[in-house]
Amino acid sequence: MKKVVFIGGGASTLCSAVLLKKREPSFEVVIVEKDKKLGKKLSMTGGGKCNIAPLEDNPSVYNALALELIENTFKNISLSQYLSLLKEIGFDTKTIKDYGYYPIHESAPQAVKNLYHQINKLGIKVIYDEFLDYESKNNKVTIKLKEQNIEADYLIIATGGLSKEMRNVFENHNVKVTKTYPGLCPVRLKENVASLFGCRFEATITLFYKKDIVKQCYGEVQFKKDGLSGIPVLNMSSLISRKMIDEDINMNDYQISIGLPEQLHVDILGKTVEEAFLMLFKEEYANYMIEKHDLNKKEIINQSLEKIILNIVQDERFTVESLYDFKDGQVTVGGVSLDEINKDFALKITTNVYVIGEALNVDGICGGYNLRFAIASGFIAVHSLVK
Ligand SMILES: Cc1cc2nc3c(=O)[nH]c(=O)nc-3n(C[C@H](O)[C@H](O)[C@H](O)COP(=O)(O)OP(=O)(O)OC[C@H]3O[C@@H](n4cnc5c(N)ncnc54)[C@H](O)[C@@H]3O)c2cc1C
Repeated sequence: MKKVVFIGGGASTLCSAVLLKKREPSFEVVIVEKDKKLGKKLSMTGGGKCNIAPLEDNPSVYNALALELIENTFKNISLSQYLSLLKEIGFDTKTIKDYGYYPIHESAPQAVKNLYHQINKLGIKVIYDEFLDYESKNNKVTIKLKEQNIEADYLIIATGGLSKEMRNVFENHNVKVTKTYPGLCPVRLKENVASLFGCRFEATITLFYKKDIVKQCYGEVQFKKDGLSGIPVLNMSSLISRKMIDEDINMNDYQISIGLPEQLHVDILGKTVEEAFLMLFKEEYANYMIEKHDLNKKEIINQSLEKIILNIVQDERFTVESLYDFKDGQVTVGGVSLDEINKDFALKITTNVYVIGEALNVDGICGGYNLRFAIASGFIAVHSLVK
């Protein structure tokens, strides 16, 4: 009987441990989780609904270094195979128009409960303890936890975004890890936007690095006390983090422009400045813009003022001060270097040890791409154990 130990009871482990035990009931499968609960992060996904996959795979939305691994992963387990494997473990999905795949019940906490039920039913053992280190010798792995040591045939590390402790573990085993930064997180701004807290609306959002456009899209922008959020901004934060891994950059060289689409024709000639802004924006944003640009609320708009105002409403610039913390991000950008693993996610340097999911240097944008990769990587590792 083979023994397989998964470290970390998150999304990738919960799905792949269940698949492994279903496919190979003779295997002893163990999950080690340092928290008091399994699947804490999974239960918060997709605004509580769990966006488990996008409508279509798109390798280009992941960090560029991951492209080859992502293409191999999706060739190995296509989206339809992935959804069938989810079905096999009792995770039936449906699409929500324009957004992607979700569990039929549309509840992330329920998805975790259902997986936990499968884990109990299949006799998968859960140990609540912290993983500290491992040693691989003679085709056996000794797994060192805070409270005990366990012997196994295979170790699958699925500890999610790289912590300081896990960085030390990998580095002590000569496994290269990259720098890490928060991804899919809000962005702090240099400007004082406290008066805009809670204000949200749809706009064209453009990320500039120095004078170059890095990314432009249309979507909802949400103001925080000191910054910006909303899906387009979250996606942009990951682009900034990816660049920080490659280069030393000055965060203030990034600007975010918020603007009404150019094609939106608005007739503001002859109106007062205040009337014009209130036609276009919520009151708090209208007031903020008038004040920031030192405009006279009562001034009647003539042709030259019209030009100035249209420029402002189409391209209002904010300077990036910093990114929010890891705890505010949905993913970690960076992780175990991809040249350390084989196509089946086994470490090249040590036999019988695998690394899957977010612990790797793979990050995707919002929309189900991160769970799609994390869980598929676990399925591939499991396939290589039962083949
Ligand atoms: C608010 C929020 C919303 C999100 N929404 C979506 C979404 O809708 N769609 C999507 O695709 N992605 C989403 N994500 C991202 C997604 O949750 C992650 O990509 C995914 O959970 C990664 O899975 P994982 O198994 O690699 O790691 P995790 O799910 O993070 O699990 C890692 C586990 O390892 C445990 N662990 C860490 N170190 C140790 C140790 N030393 N010993 C023992 N255990 C340890 C942790 O406690 C944790 O339980 C969201 C993330 C957040 C925070």
